[in-house]
Amino acid sequence: MTSLALIGIYGGTFDPIHFGHLRVAEELVSDIAFNRFFFVPAGTPRLRDIPFASKTQRAGMVALAIQDNPDFLLDTREIKREGVSKTVETLRAYRSEYGENVALCLIIGADTFLKIHQWCDWHEVFELCHVVIVNRPGSPLIKHKQGFPEEIQQACGSRWITCSASLASQPYGLIYAAPTTLLDISATQIRALVAAKKSIRYLLPDAVSDYIKTHQLYTGEYEFKKTGQHCS
Ligand code: ATP
Repeated sequence: MTSLALIGIYGGTFDPIHFGHLRVAEELVSDIAFNRFFFVPAGTPRLRDIPFASKTQRAGMVALAIQDNPDFLLDTREIKREGVSKTVETLRAYRSEYGENVALCLIIGADTFLKIHQWCDWHEVFELCHVVIVNRPGSPLIKHKQGFPEEIQQACGSRWITCSASLASQPYGLIYAAPTTLLDISATQIRALVAAKKSIRYLLPDAVSDYIKTHQLYTGEYEFKKTGQHCS
């Protein structure tokens, strides 16, 4: 069987990055022999409110979180790009950089996958990369591969695979639901705890927690910073 090099691409707002993200990444790197694994902080997200921390701060927190792990890399291309972030543009760029003979794997949480049909040119995603879905508490749908919006079910078709080894057999087009540990941690919860002056210890790396404190992120007035801007 063909065995292509594997590149993992884990996009997110990372506002802030936490152990939910990091544990998933660790388990995936251990289960799937990624040759490279990138964290890609989104610049200006298209489908959600503007993040509370700046692009630089969010990337800075990712850098701190992964600094001791040589398997993890930070890719700042989206925060450097003008305009809203489009995952498909990032995937096109990876494909043109790495060529046809690598397997690109986009890592996304089940909650995000259920909205993939709202992304720009979302059908193209399956022509550019594999999708590795990680379940999240509150999104148990992936296990049974049902309960998706009809459009997504159709696009998934026969792409599902059950063995991660198959990801290296072709450069794109497969969907794998990874059996990672469910950790009920979210950035929303962490921001709310900071705003309420409660402890965030053990939810994220200490270095990130220190950064939040030093830069006074997510403090009391953060609720008022919501701009209500919601692009679609
Ligand atoms: P927020 O609470 O602000 O929405 P978040 O915690 O969901 O943030 P994101 O940066 O938006 O974090 O997530 C990036 C990606 O990681 C998404 O695909 C999301 O589904 C996934 N993800 C986030 N937290 C977890 C978790 N605890 N377990 C598994 N996947 C997660």
